[in-house]
Amino acid sequence: MSEFLPTVCVDFDGVIHSYDKGWQNGVIYGHVVPGFFEWLETTRGKLKVVVYSSRSKTNDGLVAMGRWLHEQRNAWIKAGGNRHPTEPLEIEFAHEKPPAFLTIDDRAFCFQGNWADPALTPEAIKAFRPWNTRSAS
Ligand SMILES: [Mg+2]
Repeated sequence: MSEFLPTVCVDFDGVIHSYDKGWQNGVIYGHVVPGFFEWLETTRGKLKVVVYSSRSKTNDGLVAMGRWLHEQRNAWIKAGGNRHPTEPLEIEFAHEKPPAFLTIDDRAFCFQGNWADPALTPEAIKAFRPWNTRSAS
């Protein structure tokens, strides 16, 4: 029996893929952001997880993300990752941005209905830094 599951649209670079050196000619060079596979396990039967990224517009991009994630998940399982014993992983890779209940992205602003929000000035927007490029100090 299939029940309706709210879609969560998940960005790839900087969210699943560490992406700590920015765009490198399309190469997926980093590691999985710690905790992603554990989080994914909690979504089983509760959320529909759809990965959508700027890489999604080409088949090569989709295949590369899927292959990399598969390899990373196998490594995670080998290292003792606590996955569901029988149910396969359900994660979709979309060509186009899916209609989503919520989007998880490292470069987004959660709009609160106020265009006068100081965080939305051009200066504030231009000063934005994603989590993985902020210095610790
Ligand atoms: Mg991103």
